[in-house]
Amino acid sequence: MASLSWKHHTLIQTLISRGPLKEKEFHSIFTGVTGRNPGDAKKIFDKYLLEINKELSYVHFELRACRDQYDGHVCYGVVNTVSDDQSKLGTKYSVPQIAFFKGIIEAIAQDEAAQGCISGFDALNIRLENQVPSEASSSQQQVPPAFKNFSMSQKDKTLEELVKDNWLCRTRDGNIGLGIRSLLDLRSWFRNNGVPSCEVCNEAGVKADLCSNEGCTVRIHKYCLKNLLSQRDDKVCSGCGKPWPLGRVTKEEAVEAAVNDDEEEETDAQATALRSKKRKNRSHRDSAENVSSQASLASSSGITRRRVTRSAAHLS
Ligand SMILES: [Zn+2]
Ligand SMILES: [Zn+2]
Repeated sequence: MASLSWKHHTLIQTLISRGPLKEKEFHSIFTGVTGRNPGDAKKIFDKYLLEINKELSYVHFELRACRDQYDGHVCYGVVNTVSDDQSKLGTKYSVPQIAFFKGIIEAIAQDEAAQGCISGFDALNIRLENQVPSEASSSQQQVPPAFKNFSMSQKDKTLEELVKDNWLCRTRDGNIGLGIRSLLDLRSWFRNNGVPSCEVCNEAGVKADLCSNEGCTVRIHKYCLKNLLSQRDDKVCSGCGKPWPLGRVTKEEAVEAAVNDDEEEETDAQATALRSKKRKNRSHRDSAENVSSQASLASSSGITRRRVTRSAAHLS
């Protein structure tokens, strides 16, 4: 048990007190502590993580990396591997708050369209009654009063807190998505609850692109698709062999990725200015996309209906 040095401890301590951290930030802390750059000394970096995880496993914690599915950036965090919800959220949140959070996670993760988010309105309308603990659900009418009395303003306040604590996030278009903490922590929950994995990286495809073939369940993260496209451009679905709908991903997303990379090099103030500029560009583009998507509304709504039918079939 005595194999960890102060360097290991500093890394763990930083992630616990300040995490989850973006890769760039965690790497620079690693460099500060060890004098080595993880880019040049990947083996040393990996060895540190391995040593840390060996010790953390005794107390059911794990240092983990995962991608933020909304911007594709890698993040590092220390997660609790004991899989009950209460221990994950700590004691900070009350039982109805945790039930509310669970309801939101289910709504987002089990969305057949893998949009990775729900509207604030839908979030506030999540019914806690559906989240009654299993012991109580066998006998009807056992909804705890704290669940029934959980008001809109309590929900609103809880949403805000969960976003602030990185359990949830606000997406660029103002919807509610999963925060980086949830993406890091809920890996086994996604698996146990049948959230389809990304074909490329095997992580849950919470926010992902779907195969256009309605009978096919393959989904791929946008950033994974970009990687794939950089290697070859005749991408076909590995599940059904149908050509993958590349459409706007190739040009616009590539430009966006380039802007994102620039952004990392900027100072905070510059980055903020850049972001607001990007946001403007994006809203222009979105409205353009809306027009074109309306043009194909007939066919796409057909797809949506079929997907819903498919999910209904799963449930029965
Ligand atoms: Zn992926
Ligand atoms: Zn397919």
